[in-house]
Amino acid sequence: MKTILVAGGAGYIGSHMVYCLIEKGYDVVVADNLSTGFHDAIHKDARFYKGDTRDRSFLENMFTQESIDAVIHMDAFSIVPESMKDPLKYFDNNLIGVIVLLEEMEKFNIHKIVFSTTAAVYGNPKNIPISEDDEKNPINPYGESKLMMESIMKWVDEAFGIKYVALRYFNAAGAHPSGLIGEAHANETHLIPNIMKVALDPTKEFQIFGDDYGTPDGTNIRDYVHILDLAEAHVLALQYIENGGKSDSFNLGSNQGFSVKEIFDETSNIVGKAIPYKISNRRDGDPDILIADSSKARSVLGWHPDYENVHDIIQTAWNWHSKHPHGYGK
Ligand code: UDP
Repeated sequence: MKTILVAGGAGYIGSHMVYCLIEKGYDVVVADNLSTGFHDAIHKDARFYKGDTRDRSFLENMFTQESIDAVIHMDAFSIVPESMKDPLKYFDNNLIGVIVLLEEMEKFNIHKIVFSTTAAVYGNPKNIPISEDDEKNPINPYGESKLMMESIMKWVDEAFGIKYVALRYFNAAGAHPSGLIGEAHANETHLIPNIMKVALDPTKEFQIFGDDYGTPDGTNIRDYVHILDLAEAHVLALQYIENGGKSDSFNLGSNQGFSVKEIFDETSNIVGKAIPYKISNRRDGDPDILIADSSKARSVLGWHPDYENVHDIIQTAWNWHSKHPHGYGK
């Protein structure tokens, strides 16, 4: 398998995916409409097509010019609070995009796809850590749209034999150690970048969204996994499908949970100064605790994350944010 299409290869996760593939010798094509991604995040050795995966003629043109062996789909919207305010935006982009992509893949005889899904499919889990077979009951439209994507993939495999691996990410964090690419969003909502923004601009104040959750310190607990470890899992998933593995879903996490306060304290240590903060209201759609049981990815895919502790993950994020306080191109 040589040529891989990364749909969404200009985004935070997608750009790291592209670097990882190119470093491993793959030929990479990027499709991205740059609605949330950045041109400067695209590796110079990837061939870039600017367009939207909901646009059939865009896909047909790209698939005619390129000989794609497999697709990595990462061009969904993924912001929980935005999905609560604008659910139709999420169902439109995330579902129509994947339906048109799968239709065109079938037309061009591309029968392998690895795609991003999320811990948000589980909602407020009954068991911690969460296993792949646990109940799925999303509490936000983002998670619902991803669960629907997973169902679509299942029936498309049944009908057309398009083999898929669904990778349910817990909290992606950190940056490429080169400092060339990292997390950048026009309207940043994520925890670690938001703490760092305040560290870089002390006129701002960091907000902890709620300290009355059912956790020991009252703040949400999440499972943080390094972005390059996520990317590595996709490469293993491609190899798994290539070797005849059946379509399946896998959790990707560190099996450890950290509260918002713990991440805040660790980030303050790394940054080396006190960061102003306040406790604000809860944010809509946030489950109390999400921690993965990712033993299945480890045993079936042979995934062994390089970043075993959250300190090292945050350090790579700070390396990026401190060098690029305004993100790309500024
Ligand atoms: N969070 C916070 N302040 C922020 C951003 C996030 O307290 O400025 C909390 C948020 O409520 C959640 C956790 O940090 O409990 C992780 O949020 P993030 O948006 O990074 O990822 P999500 O879990 O929503 O995918």
